[in-house]
Amino acid sequence: MVLDDLGNSLRDSLGKLSGQSRVTEEDVEEIVKEIQRSLLQADVEVSLVMELSDSIKERALEEESPAGTSARDHVLSIVYEEMVALVGDSTEIPLEEQTILLAGLQGSGKTTTAAKMAWWFSKKGLRPAIVQTDTFRPGAYDQAKEMAGRAEVDFYGDPDEEDPVKIARDGLEATSDADVHIVDTAGRHALEDDLIDEIEDIERAVDPDRNLLVLDAAIGQGAKDQASQFDDSIGIEGVIVTKLDGTAKGGGALTAVNETDSSIAFLGTGEEVKNIERFEPSGFISRLLGMGDLKQLTERVERAMEETQEEEEDWDPEDMLKGEFTLKDMRRQMQAMNNMGPLDQVMDMIPGMGGGGGLMDELPDDAMDVTQDRMRSFEVIMDSMTEAELENPRAIGASQVERIAKGSGKDEERVRELLEQHKMMSQTLKQFQGMGQGNMERMMKKMQG
Ligand code: GDP
Repeated sequence: MVLDDLGNSLRDSLGKLSGQSRVTEEDVEEIVKEIQRSLLQADVEVSLVMELSDSIKERALEEESPAGTSARDHVLSIVYEEMVALVGDSTEIPLEEQTILLAGLQGSGKTTTAAKMAWWFSKKGLRPAIVQTDTFRPGAYDQAKEMAGRAEVDFYGDPDEEDPVKIARDGLEATSDADVHIVDTAGRHALEDDLIDEIEDIERAVDPDRNLLVLDAAIGQGAKDQASQFDDSIGIEGVIVTKLDGTAKGGGALTAVNETDSSIAFLGTGEEVKNIERFEPSGFISRLLGMGDLKQLTERVERAMEETQEEEEDWDPEDMLKGEFTLKDMRRQMQAMNNMGPLDQVMDMIPGMGGGGGLMDELPDDAMDVTQDRMRSFEVIMDSMTEAELENPRAIGASQVERIAKGSGKDEERVRELLEQHKMMSQTLKQFQGMGQGNMERMMKKMQG
């Protein structure tokens, strides 16, 4: 779904919350406006957008952000949860014997989707077969057969038979060795009565376990009529959104899901049989917002209430000198510095370590120099990292740097700078690890006091 814009603009407005512990009504208004603008541009129906905005507003203002959680994280996790609720769970597709009927307009991608789904089932260890009943579109038979070949699955069609219901019946019989049957139907360019009659007849003949509606992501508001007509005639259990790799907007899919009271089953992301994904709401919304794994963030916020309090009380700076210095330590360090001044000044107060021949003189000038501005952007960058990355920054490679930069709205240069800074601090601390106990204790006292 092309909501890239949403990720960017949302990051900007959320960025302003960095360092704040509370959100104001104006903050929330601004964030909600960004969301509304992006969703409406993506063709999501106005009433759905309003519903979403109201619940975000209400929750962001009423719910207390748990102790130790920044306003930014709190609001972001609410936005995420509400958007996941908007798109809903994915349609249940059990890995067992079943018959699936595909409905949709001509050109929506049914034939392609039939092959993709068959490929998907075959990768799950099932034996799928495609039954092609489209007698209307010239070339449907050849196309379906060719794609079934590419997916390496069973196929039935009959280019000489004109009755789609007979083809459907014969097809199920001819492919009785298969355990999953995917029945492709004719589309026509509009919803004519005879198309509806035909699909109802096929439905009666094959008695499917589920009917899935195939929708082109570009459909927009037209999705509503289509969805409700198919739903009225055969009942729709799930929606497949195709062509999400294009410039399509995708908002119509949410309208269709809402209209049919169903859910999204699969996403089509290209013309090849492999270009299919099972719809997974949390990953989908995280990607939509362009912000790493937000599910993790929500869980973190949920845990924060109990944990942070204890953690902060228990945190012993000496631990930092014993084990691995992680980015989390660095973040804590940066927060602590807000209270006690820059680390190099603290070091200066310790005999044998500060300026004038002390250990600090041997370090590069900027080893401890984390200015307020850099600190703030470092914090924003760290918010876009996963838990694993914070624990083990050494494993962050070029692709992660790219993702983190995108996620935080900062330059890749800045991300690398943060990693460099962390490395320097960690090396510095390693040097301290070797120093005498007396000095260490004095330093700790200064740091804590
Ligand atoms: P049908 O008339 O509903 O059976 O639609 P088709 O399966 O023939 O698809 C119509 C066109 O859309 C074909 O050119 C497909 O290659 C293309 N198509 C289908 N799904 C996708 C998709 O997910 N991405 C892209 N880029 N093209 C798709």
